[in-house]
Amino acid sequence: MIDDGPHRDHGWRPPRFMVIAGHPDDADFGPAATCARWIAEGSEAWLVCCTSGDQGGEDPDLDPLELATVREAEQRAAADVIGYAGVTFLHGPDGALANDLALREHLVREIRSFRPDAVLATDPETIFHGAHGVNHTDHRAAGMAAVDAAYPAARNPMAFPWLARNGLAAHRVRRLYLFWSNHPDVWIDVTATLDRKLEALRAHASQIDDFEALTGRVRTRAAEAGTPIGATAAEAFRLIVIDEDESEDEAAAEAVPERATSA
Ligand SMILES: [Zn+2]
Repeated sequence: MIDDGPHRDHGWRPPRFMVIAGHPDDADFGPAATCARWIAEGSEAWLVCCTSGDQGGEDPDLDPLELATVREAEQRAAADVIGYAGVTFLHGPDGALANDLALREHLVREIRSFRPDAVLATDPETIFHGAHGVNHTDHRAAGMAAVDAAYPAARNPMAFPWLARNGLAAHRVRRLYLFWSNHPDVWIDVTATLDRKLEALRAHASQIDDFEALTGRVRTRAAEAGTPIGATAAEAFRLIVIDEDESEDEAAAEAVPERATSA
């Protein structure tokens, strides 16, 4: 039985998981330490970037294609630090990503190819970061597309039926872990892998002016996220359980005291 209250214990680990991000670096500013931990404990992981971050600069004369090339290389280097099995770039337009059928089909293709138990994505309900900022439109679009692709499209053989006809069988994603949420309810202890997150972030050199200052901010945020579970460092998620594990169902059934069943 899943406890829906806060601070719920988080021993569960997806054998396979996929991170779906709007931009190169989102996965590393987001759930990188959790990903590194799960991979170190035996999970297989894949990263999908919906855009290549071609607007991620401050020079209007910069060639966006050149910037995209740099950022893809940075993201691949960071992904190697975390231990992903691979990275897919969908080459959506930075700053103009839309949760349309084309993006959803791409994501369903990725999900059915890698077949993850869990998808990690930005919480699409985050329009503002509390009272302290506006969430990027691409983060919202990528998050919503990830949710829509994971459920119901990936598990429905009649969604994009040419995919199933060509061998990409329907696949059930069982859980969503939404990061950058205003409503976190799961905190994962990342004390052992926070340094790996920082090493991955360092790979995004085109996006970082002052790595020392960034390190301080990342450590402070991780320490704050650790407070609810008494950990030195944690990452926070909003967890959506779409399908309970069979073992969890069995455990829940065993936990129910004997009672008369009525037809
Ligand atoms: Zn971003």
